[in-house]
Amino acid sequence: MTRAAAFDAVEQVFAAMASGDACNFPVVREALGHEDALYGFKGGFDRAGLTLGLKAGGYWPHNQERRGLINHQSTVFLFDPDTGKPSAMVGGNLLTALRTAAASSVSIKHLARKDAKVIGMIGAGHQATFQLRAALEQRAFDKVIGWNYHPEMLPNLARVAEEVGIPFEAAELDGMREADVIITITSSFDAILKADHVSPGTHIACMGTDTKGKQEVDPQLLVSADVFTDEVAQSISIGEAQHAVAQGLIQAADVTQIGAVIKGTNPGRISDAQITLFDGTGVGLQDLAVAATVVDRARAANVGTEIEF
Ligand code: NAD
Repeated sequence: MTRAAAFDAVEQVFAAMASGDACNFPVVREALGHEDALYGFKGGFDRAGLTLGLKAGGYWPHNQERRGLINHQSTVFLFDPDTGKPSAMVGGNLLTALRTAAASSVSIKHLARKDAKVIGMIGAGHQATFQLRAALEQRAFDKVIGWNYHPEMLPNLARVAEEVGIPFEAAELDGMREADVIITITSSFDAILKADHVSPGTHIACMGTDTKGKQEVDPQLLVSADVFTDEVAQSISIGEAQHAVAQGLIQAADVTQIGAVIKGTNPGRISDAQITLFDGTGVGLQDLAVAATVVDRARAANVGTEIEF
């Protein structure tokens, strides 16, 4: 799998969602009462791409310490939409990082100013490195600045900047005013980025908030920004917009599916002074789209294992 292939798959499925050709099924997420694990399913069907299936997985908090396995575990199952027969089982752990990074990258491609030079990162964990690597391909960035709740993790970002040969600087939150694009990718439950930390013309991709109660940015930012998302229903219930909506600051109608911008039915950014904000909540169709691409690429390269079932 490549970043470019993940980008194309996610961009296409976001457009299909905005056309009404692809829909996500209601998400199931349950506490198992075993190993303190959270487990669930994210499924959907893309009639345009003919991709049907689900991602099954969740979070096992003791995996790392007890078994040396990563705590997030997921697997994608694809089905033949003509017959319902299973067609593929694809490991989902790496794909989750690639499809999440592809989502913010799609938002940068379509919403950030063309002359964006400085990218600001809030978060420096596992996903943050994938986010930064993908984002750096979207504009001619010449500097990365980063803030993290745990500053000892910032070298994770510095290494990615070094790989592409641009400088990295640790920043205070008010230093984010220098950024033209800001990605937030933390597991925070409180607003980190405040409205006065953001300059006019900035594009913000809020990627960490994917559950009720999580929060990364000041709800006032969603009032001053034009807000876009992968899926409006998720954005206002489990995404960053949940707080601004709950406080009556914005309504569902103020949040636009990014697929509309990709298709050209919404203009997206219309001025260099506008703040745009992408609320990336993570939908099952993203997982299915990248998994289907993996299967296509595996077939073309004659790798993978075919079994009778
Ligand atoms: P990680 O554990 O590797 O990193 C967590 C990050 O959050 C680190 O930067 C850490 O310093 C920071 N953090 C932890 N506690 C904090 C606090 N109280 N306040 C502020 N920052 C805090 O996790 P990860 O795999 O990088 O995932 C980051 C987030 O992205 C998680 O919330 C995860 O659920 C979310 N996520 C979203 C999507 C999506 O599609 N939107 C997909 C995957 C993961």
